[in-house]
Amino acid sequence: MIKFDCSKCGHSYRVSDQYAGKRVRCRECGTINRISAATQKKIGAGDSVAAFNNLLRELSKYEQQAPAIEADA
Ligand SMILES: [Zn+2]
Repeated sequence: MIKFDCSKCGHSYRVSDQYAGKRVRCRECGTINRISAATQKKIGAGDSVAAFNNLLRELSKYEQQAPAIEADA
């Protein structure tokens, strides 16, 4: 089963795996939602640690790039 939320109204749906990559119409608001095949993928604990480390690296990069505050003379 694949879980997805309508992109417009947020209504939650569960559809069978055969809908992966297909488009379905929301019964509530009529919006066409494309079901991502990626939602089937389970993220392991190791993946989230790696993702967190990447985030920290990105944040520290932005800190280094931030310009020093200059006072007007
Ligand atoms: Zn909807």
